[in-house]
Amino acid sequence: MKTSFTVDDMTIHRIVEDEKGYTPALEFLPGLSRDVLEENRPWMQAMGALNPVDDTLVLCFQSYVVRTPHHTVLVDSCIGNDKTRPARAAWNGKRDGNYMQALAAAGVGVDDIDYVMCTHLHVDHVGWNTKLENGRWVPTFPKARYLFTQTEYDYWEAENRRAPIECIEDSVLPIVAARRADLITSADALNDHIRLMPTPGHTIDHFAVGLGRGGDKAVITGDLIHSPLQAKYPELSMRVDYDPKQGVATRQAFLEKYCDTDTLCCTAHFPSPSVGHVKRWGNGFRCDMV
Ligand SMILES: [Zn+2]
Repeated sequence: MKTSFTVDDMTIHRIVEDEKGYTPALEFLPGLSRDVLEENRPWMQAMGALNPVDDTLVLCFQSYVVRTPHHTVLVDSCIGNDKTRPARAAWNGKRDGNYMQALAAAGVGVDDIDYVMCTHLHVDHVGWNTKLENGRWVPTFPKARYLFTQTEYDYWEAENRRAPIECIEDSVLPIVAARRADLITSADALNDHIRLMPTPGHTIDHFAVGLGRGGDKAVITGDLIHSPLQAKYPELSMRVDYDPKQGVATRQAFLEKYCDTDTLCCTAHFPSPSVGHVKRWGNGFRCDMV
């Protein structure tokens, strides 16, 4: 499994925590019809994006570590250990070594991370922000500044006050309490190698991350797209999109922007190897995996 890529003077590592069929495709993408699923079954199964046994979409759960000449940055922090996730049996209280082993294999220690960037504050993008230590949630990456957007944080903090959300309680608020969070905007540039790009729709202030000096040599998508099926049919919304219409417009614009360019597209959830180049395919797009 290919897990690292060199682009100019940067190295990008995939840090894979889990990969399997999760939700039935027809539930995950409510606009997907049985006919369209059947029509696309051969290529979806061939690339490992659809589990033939139960028609679940196969999703990879991973972070990206980006090493520039100056910094080591973790984009999204995946699922986490010891978290109470009653709605997700596979993640509830899990204590596996997958994530830390993948970090070590990439030659990255927790002390090496200068920044943790969360594209949005969903449960599978904030988990390793914290770890359990003597019954308390403490930052997993003790030297890192954690970047959340102000708008995204305000939204989830308010939602959490209305009704507690486990991942906000155990993986976001402890970072703020530890004074490790920087609240930024989704259009900020971190430095000359790393830029945020507002890509709202899946959540209120989701961002993607452009990498490379003087242009996007690579881009980390976060959840503006979940499955290769949404490249071919950008109009297919994921079931919990905050603003589905905006999500479609964001996805369409993103795919158009990078179509037939050299930009390496690093998706959060496509099956391994998860990374490729956007090409036109009929009325939609595909991502040719590297
Ligand atoms: Zn996600």
